[in-house]
Amino acid sequence: MDRVNNFIDNQFLPPQGGQFLVSLNPATAEQIAEIADSDARDIELAVQAAKKAYPLWSAKTSAERSQYLYRIADLIEKRALEFAELESRDQGKPVKLANEMDIARVILNFRFFAGAILHTENESTVHDNRTFNYVARKSIGVAGLISPWNLPLYLLTWKIAPAIVSGNTVVCKPSEFTSLTASLFAEVIAQVLPAGVVNIVFGTGAKAGEALVKHPDVPLISFTGGTETGKRILRDSAESIKKVSLELGGKNPNIIFADCDFEAAIANSIRAGFLNQGEICLCGSRIYVEDSLYDRFVQRYVQETQKLIVGDPGLPETFMGPLVSASHYQKVLSYLEVAKAEGGQILCGGQRPQLPEKFSKGYFLNPTVIAGLSESSKCIQDEIFGPVVTISRFSGVDDAITKANGVRYGLSASVWTANLSQAHRLAAELKVGTVWINSWLVRDLRLPFGGMKASGLGREGGRHSLEFFTEPTTVCVRYS
Ligand code: NAD
Repeated sequence: MDRVNNFIDNQFLPPQGGQFLVSLNPATAEQIAEIADSDARDIELAVQAAKKAYPLWSAKTSAERSQYLYRIADLIEKRALEFAELESRDQGKPVKLANEMDIARVILNFRFFAGAILHTENESTVHDNRTFNYVARKSIGVAGLISPWNLPLYLLTWKIAPAIVSGNTVVCKPSEFTSLTASLFAEVIAQVLPAGVVNIVFGTGAKAGEALVKHPDVPLISFTGGTETGKRILRDSAESIKKVSLELGGKNPNIIFADCDFEAAIANSIRAGFLNQGEICLCGSRIYVEDSLYDRFVQRYVQETQKLIVGDPGLPETFMGPLVSASHYQKVLSYLEVAKAEGGQILCGGQRPQLPEKFSKGYFLNPTVIAGLSESSKCIQDEIFGPVVTISRFSGVDDAITKANGVRYGLSASVWTANLSQAHRLAAELKVGTVWINSWLVRDLRLPFGGMKASGLGREGGRHSLEFFTEPTTVCVRYS
């Protein structure tokens, strides 16, 4: 069994308190690792290492830092399958998905920002022929990066790459449920980067995470995770007035008009509902279908959902593995009881699949489709974050917009229609950070990504990330 120690100043160090957490394989509920249960003392060590590394690292040229990132990407690519298998064992997702989605994106995160930093331009103006002004962007110092368990290394490196390429050093706190690929990643970092540029402290949010957020020498926090945690982080970072970016939960509408390309809408709505066990903040878990298409859509959607293969994450044909943890499994199951109590009909799923003995204790759930709920239902209002979708009707564009906007979240939406004017009207009126028209989960990394309302604060992606991880100074030169 592996023991995951902290990675501080390019060394693997046990936690100061000597305590470890147990990490389970969600497919078998067997213990696979012990994770450092770190506290404020470990965060202190990591922050000091990052502070010590900052002057030399921030003094390097952008081109030099870019080269380090390319090298990190190359080394991960050489070990891609090892990373994918570990991510699957720790998180539950199929190895194939981990390889094609997570680790491919980890590699791209480094290559993308290695290139992006070389193509940034600073603003400058000549004002009334009296002053010449320019904006100098500066790295900030030690950045605190906190990530969730659903796309573990993918989301952590989406923060690390822009943070370090901009000249900051970082202290990372991955989710306590999925620490293993971050630990393997530390091996790569030790081969490539000067000591102290990337430090990783493992453990819980309550101890290690909170200590990082409250640390007076960490001027910036980039957080991805749940909305309630995001609120807490905003409060805890207020004392030292930190720069904060929050990428939070979603409960995203997937709106199907009667004139859509039916086959494309069905196939993508299945992916949007159940990819990664439905554990993606961008999942389209609230499906709204126009009245005249409703019966045909529901019948076919349920038929296709029942064909999805749930089970052994190691098999290439598996579409869904187990949910990430026992506590999350129980949370998702509790919503099925809520749905029944609220008068919903479970059209398919709702129970464990039949699997070999080896997986009898794993957190597996068949993909579940619920209909007949009112818009005020908890199953429609809350982020369930599992393989559970609701299907409801709408009649006309206004009704679709009202229903889609009728939750506290505002992360993303999908719209399926052949009528582009109608699609643009929805794009204008939906209160979300991303609208996909006749598509889902297609991302251009140059564009802003983030949520409105309870889905977050700020935007990351392309120059938006590079701006977040730097501070501008406006310089004004009077010449007449
Ligand atoms: P979570 O909020 O429970 O935990 C996220 C991270 O925060 C973990 O590393 C955790 O240890 C840490 N943490 C917890 N309490 C903390 C505290 N008081 N101070 C500092 N750190 C603390 O979220 P989760 O359950 O790991 O992830 C699922 C959530 O993440 C879902 O709501 C999902 O929608 C959201 N998410 C959002 C995006 C996005 O881009 N908007 C992407 C992926 C996941």
